[in-house]
Amino acid sequence: MVTRRPNAVIAISIVLAGAILAIAALLLAQMRDDALRRAQDAVFNVSLLVERDVSRNLEIYDLSLRAVIDGLKQPGVLELPPAMRQMVLFDGSISAKDIGSVFVLDEHGNVRFDSRGVVATPVNLANRDYFKAHRDSADAGLFISHPYSPGGGVDDPRIALSRRISRPDGSFGGVVVGTLRLTYFHRLFDGMKLGPSGSMALMLADGTMLMRRPFDPKIIGINLAGTANYTRFIQRSSGDFFGMAAIDHVERWYAFRHIDVYPLILDVALSTHDIYAQWRRRAWVIGTLIGALDVTIIALAILFSQQLRRRRLAEEELRELARTDGLTGLNNRRSFEEHLNEEWRRAQRSGLPLSLLLIDVDYFKGFNDLYGHSAGDEALIGVARCIGESVRRPGDTAARYGGEEFAVLLPETNEAGALCIAGKIRAAVEALQCRHVASAHHVLTVSVGTATAHGPALPTHRAIVDAADEALYRAKHAGRNRAVSYRAGADAAQPDGDAVTPDNQQQRAD
Ligand code: GH3
Ligand code: MG
Ligand code: MG
Repeated sequence: MVTRRPNAVIAISIVLAGAILAIAALLLAQMRDDALRRAQDAVFNVSLLVERDVSRNLEIYDLSLRAVIDGLKQPGVLELPPAMRQMVLFDGSISAKDIGSVFVLDEHGNVRFDSRGVVATPVNLANRDYFKAHRDSADAGLFISHPYSPGGGVDDPRIALSRRISRPDGSFGGVVVGTLRLTYFHRLFDGMKLGPSGSMALMLADGTMLMRRPFDPKIIGINLAGTANYTRFIQRSSGDFFGMAAIDHVERWYAFRHIDVYPLILDVALSTHDIYAQWRRRAWVIGTLIGALDVTIIALAILFSQQLRRRRLAEEELRELARTDGLTGLNNRRSFEEHLNEEWRRAQRSGLPLSLLLIDVDYFKGFNDLYGHSAGDEALIGVARCIGESVRRPGDTAARYGGEEFAVLLPETNEAGALCIAGKIRAAVEALQCRHVASAHHVLTVSVGTATAHGPALPTHRAIVDAADEALYRAKHAGRNRAVSYRAGADAAQPDGDAVTPDNQQQRAD
């Protein structure tokens, strides 16, 4: 039973605390996974939303450029009066606020028509990247230029979107080009919720940065080709991963996608710190509570086990007291009976001899009368000490049998051995030289009766007690201060059993 084993209580509490900790850890790990999954979904959705918006606007823009090209191909358009021609060519071109002017360039790069006015500014744009691209290739499609600022600085950056004008024979006939302010992307990015450290970026397929959130005008136009993230962006048309931004060195979860058919790459990222911010706060609270709970459980278990240990000690003490004689400290009679029963059975099983000594103080009534009851008690304590010192083998049991009678149980001891011990006890008491003038021996003495059960002799444990009692009676009868062993059928007057008297004990010792 657990209550019998204080250490088991602590062990169980540790297992319980460990189980609670394990469950909490499991739940926290799941919560962490959920936080990441939610962030992944959010990033994916934002990237999809932005991609749709950008690709739709580019498509509309492209349609406007195509409309200008189609207009130029209409017979007679170029012969129309300038105002009419302006309307035919540029009426369909978009007039949203981020969209600047649309030009038509001839094959030398000179501006032929300008959506802003009937009279085009005489400028040559043959050195622009888009002009060269269309001149050198018939399939540049919708070309998106590197970002530039009209003034040459960093203000109001924009990109040019252009399409080639091909003559009917397929030769290069010029370019139609429109401008798009990058503020369009700036506003679009700012409208998305991405957490305090989130980032978004739109770049050209060659790694040139067009717009980034958090916004920094200096970043526009830089090239990210060669960075770890860019390398992953160009491997697939869309994807996601944990990565470190080359610009601010913040670790983030990235979702990227190439925008439709255009040479643009969009990435949306949430910082790892933001993703787990809420989870971290909860983990702290839950972790602290679970820790406190575990400590409490174990502390209570320790207290409980200490109480159990104390109770067990108290019980052991009580049990010990219940088995001990208060005056002499020897076993009491009840305990002795238990030992006798046990040893008797053991001797029956093993076939080994079992001896019993009954010791009675001689003329003790007279001693009490003469020296008082307290002196009598002292004398009994002295006799008990003599017995205890003579009986030293671990299996031996000495007990106060009652009044001034003592008993000693000697397992695996034959008659001769028992008589030897009996003689030692007798001699030890005599050696106390405790004056007793009412005794024939003048000092306090004891008589001892011994009996040995071996084989079929003395078939019950009561029989051995009766036999030892009979031997004791014979010792008394023979003059006291002696040890007599029991012999079946012996006459009390002439003891047939072996005897140890003061006279022959010395001889035996010699
Ligand atoms: P015998 O030699 O025949 O044994 O004589 P005896 O006087 O010892 O005989 P008996 O058995 O009649 O006397 C026992 C006496 O022991 C009775 C009682 O006064 C005394 N006695 C018994 N128990 C105690 C005890 O605990 N303390 C003291 N002081 N005396 C006790
Ligand atoms: Mg007696
Ligand atoms: Mg007596």
